[in-house]
Amino acid sequence: MDVILFGPPGAGKGTQAKILVEKLGIPQVSTGDMMRAERASGSALGKKFDEYMSNGALVPDELVLELFAQRLAQPDAAEGAIFDGFPRTVPQAEALDATLAKLGRKVDHVVALSVDIEDIVGRITGRRVCLSGHTFHVRYSPPPPSGVCPECGSEIVQRKDDTEETVRTRNSAYESQTFPILAHYEPLGVIDKIDGTGTVEEITGRILAALGKS
Ligand code: AMP
Repeated sequence: MDVILFGPPGAGKGTQAKILVEKLGIPQVSTGDMMRAERASGSALGKKFDEYMSNGALVPDELVLELFAQRLAQPDAAEGAIFDGFPRTVPQAEALDATLAKLGRKVDHVVALSVDIEDIVGRITGRRVCLSGHTFHVRYSPPPPSGVCPECGSEIVQRKDDTEETVRTRNSAYESQTFPILAHYEPLGVIDKIDGTGTVEEITGRILAALGKS
């Protein structure tokens, strides 16, 4: 099954993707996580990503598509994937469709999470992550005082792009460049609109029901 987790930055896509990996047995493909790993490696490509990511702009499609193609070719994605933060533009959606079509697959579901922008500002500015992507929130799921992730032992930090100003810029990029993807998938009848407010468990329940997996 190939599922796009869709919604504005801060809608909870990463949190839900990690839960769905367990429930559905298919991997999370997060271009944002891949870019952060590349950036942390200090490579030339990582430095290029950083120019865009640190001010909330989208990374150009040609760079993203290269990363995505390499990831989808890995054996764990042979039966499907949960796409988180990808596609983010209509050309990326077209590239995803074409790549899946070559594998005899298609986008089965677009899970569209809706959350109000003011809620998102609160969620993102309070978000803390460890270096391997486990997520915390200063109010809702506080990180331990040691600042060390209990799951993997790595350091817990605030993402560089999780400031209010960057959140608003990222939201504008979402509205102008990413939101039109819904019109691209509308004729295929694969969009499930999900209320993205409530507890993590409530939202997971709504998603699984939409996927026919509850
Ligand atoms: P995310 O972790 O998905 O919120 O992504 C963080 C940042 O990485 C975004 O604000 C973009 O700068 C960049 N990024 C991640 N995925 C993509 C993508 N599919 N297309 C363009 N830029 C992306």
